[in-house]
Amino acid sequence: MLVTNIIGNCPKCGTEASFGNVFVKGHILTRGCLRCDYSEHFYLPQTEKTVLYLDQFFLSHAFREKVPEFVECIRLISNLADDQLMVCPISSVHETETHQWRHAQKDELWEFIKRTSRGHEFKPAYEIKRRQIIQGFKMYLVQAQSEFPVTHSDALPHDINEWEDYFWIDVGHYPSNVELTRRLKEDSISELVDAFPKWLQSAKSFQDHRAFELRTAGDIYISLYRRMIQRIAVGDCSAIFDSPIDSKIVEAMLHCFENERDLKEQLETVRSYFQSPYFSQVPCEYISTGLITVLRDRVKRGSFKNPEKAKKQLRGFFFDVDFIAAYAPYCDAMFLDTTMLSFVRDKRLAIEKRYGTKFYAKSNWGEFMDFLKSINARKTEELTRAIELVYPNKLGNAKT
Ligand SMILES: [Zn+2]
Repeated sequence: MLVTNIIGNCPKCGTEASFGNVFVKGHILTRGCLRCDYSEHFYLPQTEKTVLYLDQFFLSHAFREKVPEFVECIRLISNLADDQLMVCPISSVHETETHQWRHAQKDELWEFIKRTSRGHEFKPAYEIKRRQIIQGFKMYLVQAQSEFPVTHSDALPHDINEWEDYFWIDVGHYPSNVELTRRLKEDSISELVDAFPKWLQSAKSFQDHRAFELRTAGDIYISLYRRMIQRIAVGDCSAIFDSPIDSKIVEAMLHCFENERDLKEQLETVRSYFQSPYFSQVPCEYISTGLITVLRDRVKRGSFKNPEKAKKQLRGFFFDVDFIAAYAPYCDAMFLDTTMLSFVRDKRLAIEKRYGTKFYAKSNWGEFMDFLKSINARKTEELTRAIELVYPNKLGNAKT
């Protein structure tokens, strides 16, 4: 047996320094001997881990170790993870954003982010989005009266609340095209900022703009799908593989129809869903269109006046919208940059209230530290004893 932590002599064969912890699976710790087949099992207490999303701003500061607060904070987070009280899963947006970073230490940063996640990963953002839009469509088809269900397992692996083993498996790669993504994001920001003068003149209300953003989102899904099937119709089979990932959303929705209906009729139903309250309640759409509407509102009120400065300030905007929209409902807390914090806290969106997610940034650092300390306070005596069993040689658990 591979013994990870030697704790002493074997109770059966008596071999010196041969007995210790072998592995942790689910809620069971197995101890064994290097020499014989003796083993012991311990049942560990149930854990309920806090899910914290750390954005790229936080992670790159913690990685560079130049600001003491971040170094201290990441140590606190790491201790909470050791104590099975917290997880900071990695996401597809982390990977894409890290690979956009033009920096010599890019690979080291990526390794650091992976270590921080300790093998926990969110499902890719596009998958969550597709799943939610289809869920909303199914609710629309039966005119369901219930609220949109937010289930943790839609975004996170089922074993997130199990005890961590001594070794974790390196997370896989999310598919992405680094150069294409970089170009698209840069183009999108330029296009966005170029639209600001027009936004300034608009007399529409916040709600009107919100409705407009939602309509646009639905139109984009339909036009992406149309483009893909038009390419296939003229014999371009590569369209199935190289079309933007969101082209498949409408296609997946069409599979929801039980009866044979012609495509035109089906697409009409899809379109009316996109214009219905069912679509506006889909979490990723609610959040993403909401955040863009807040940006519109800020522009209208005189923010981001200098286009060049705005492009710099908003460089990470679409990444932020992507990960907040996809993951906020499944997180207990998120650390964002200060601009985004003011966006998500906009009272008209009430994201914190709606999904129970707490948001932090550099500007409310004290609240963030209080939040982390409150999690630490959940460490019961039972948990402390179990941690001493699982990590007997950890600094602080060592017995003399
Ligand atoms: Zn033995």
